[in-house]
Amino acid sequence: MDFAEVGAALRSRREALQGELHGLTTRPADATPSVGFGKRVGDGTTEAVERINTTAAARSIAASLAEADRALAKLDEASYGLCDGCGKPIGDERLEAIPWATMCVSCAGGRSGDRGRGKAGSRGA
Ligand SMILES: [Zn+2]
Repeated sequence: MDFAEVGAALRSRREALQGELHGLTTRPADATPSVGFGKRVGDGTTEAVERINTTAAARSIAASLAEADRALAKLDEASYGLCDGCGKPIGDERLEAIPWATMCVSCAGGRSGDRGRGKAGSRGA
């Protein structure tokens, strides 16, 4: 694995994420998307929903940003590729797929795109 290459990839990912986050958080107050439904009922609702979406997006971007940061720090510490949870190797395959991974599959658990817990939900059968 080429650490220099990984570092460059992580840095450019971080920059991209920072740009995204910046765009989300510095949106002008009256840049409300032009929703021309002519309905007056949900005026505040649209805004609230929009804000929630923005917050959720910003949070997930911030989380990704933190991961990229952490991975870069690990490169510096020469602990890149080792799990932050158990200290075991994360595995080349996983690192190739997710260069910013800082935990092995078992420590990372099921947090793949699913924020919060996905297991304790509907128990039908
Ligand atoms: Zn682990």
